[in-house]
Amino acid sequence: MSKNFLHPLTGSFAQPAAENPTAVMIEAAYRQMGLSWRYLNCEVFPTRLGDAVRGTRAMNWRGFNCSIPHKIAVIEHLDELGISARIIGAVNTVICGESGLVGENTDGKGFLHAFSKVATPVGTHAVILGAGGAARAIAVELALAGATKITIVNRDRSRGDALANLVNQHTSAAGDYHPWDKPFRIPEEVNAVINATSVGLFPNVDQMPEIDLSTLRRDIVVADVVPNPPLTRFLKSASGRGCRILDGLEMLVNQGVLAIKYWTGLDADPEHMRLTLLKLGL
Ligand code: NDP
Repeated sequence: MSKNFLHPLTGSFAQPAAENPTAVMIEAAYRQMGLSWRYLNCEVFPTRLGDAVRGTRAMNWRGFNCSIPHKIAVIEHLDELGISARIIGAVNTVICGESGLVGENTDGKGFLHAFSKVATPVGTHAVILGAGGAARAIAVELALAGATKITIVNRDRSRGDALANLVNQHTSAAGDYHPWDKPFRIPEEVNAVINATSVGLFPNVDQMPEIDLSTLRRDIVVADVVPNPPLTRFLKSASGRGCRILDGLEMLVNQGVLAIKYWTGLDADPEHMRLTLLKLGL
């Protein structure tokens, strides 16, 4: 019987990389799908990013993820960008295809996938807390999916304004910025609130974003990008008020599902991937 000892290669480039659990999640999915694919967690220093990307071409990798600090720097090494990745200006997933390396951004797509299971993005007025990388990706994907208004609430005015302008200039949604100098009161017409800051991330699990909880109506969908712990203090409070909640672990798992789909064309099982992460103590 003929044997094949050549495994299709995928992986992640980041620095630091040691605490990134993505490899465990993706390889668990590959095994469950009966694939002999591998996913390698690689520590790549910024000065070596170009070499690493050229290595994927030389070794016929099928795709890779980019995390901090490579999401913007990787773009100059790619051949093409997906629509949202171009608008967001950052790439976290690269597909190595016959026509070259294509950059996509699944940060926002992973969120959108989870959001679409509980509500329609079309016509949504979303409040996004934060204006960093995660907020940027979520704002763009929600707007491209049909949200009508995106309100950015951020401490730093220039970052907040820049994201609101990005939404206005590149999508059909209206973007506006609101300063965050006191507990934010959710406006009446809002139907989704997303914490896209790192507030509540381990070890600061007692922190929560400063919003006036009495303005959080039960018909609002409340999401948190923080993956660890999945049930943040913010989500606990929202759930206690009767809101539907979406956790950051689901967003993370959906990003893995999307990457596997881009690379293999196949659907991975999100539940198996989530359980794999939870077993790691996430
Ligand atoms: P950035 O550094 O790009 O942005 C951080 C944002 O958080 C900024 O808007 C910053 O505000 C805000 N912020 C930080 N501390 C506070 C605070 N104490 N009060 C109010 N605002 C604060 O980070 P990212 O966007 O890359 O990541 C943010 C979070 O998203 C992280 O926790 C990360 O783990 C998570 N994430 C989750 C993903 C998932 O799949 N679940 C994917 C990607 C990220 P300011 O501009 O005013 O400084």
